[in-house]
Amino acid sequence: MEIINYKEYLNTEVWKSKRKTFLEYYNYMCVICRKQMYVYEQIKINNKYVTKLLKNNLQIHHLNYNHLGCETQEDCIIVCLECHKQIHDKHIYILY
Ligand SMILES: [Zn+2]
Ligand SMILES: [Zn+2]
Repeated sequence: MEIINYKEYLNTEVWKSKRKTFLEYYNYMCVICRKQMYVYEQIKINNKYVTKLLKNNLQIHHLNYNHLGCETQEDCIIVCLECHKQIHDKHIYILY
């Protein structure tokens, strides 16, 4: 078993691909304010246009850390920066 800390975990490829899955699952929308946050750009590669996701300001908030490393959609929600801050400042409570 490999033990890494949470911050390191967020930098792993495992987490990055999981993050993408969550973002797609929630349709790049903050579950609290329902703002959709993504920016797409059309770029040309080999004479073909491909859509590239430029950036989004969404973050993953863990509802619990029970399944760290093997989170499911029920363990995480996606929120925008402002809502995320509010959750951690305890201005917003999530009931689940
Ligand atoms: Zn929000
Ligand atoms: Zn959080």
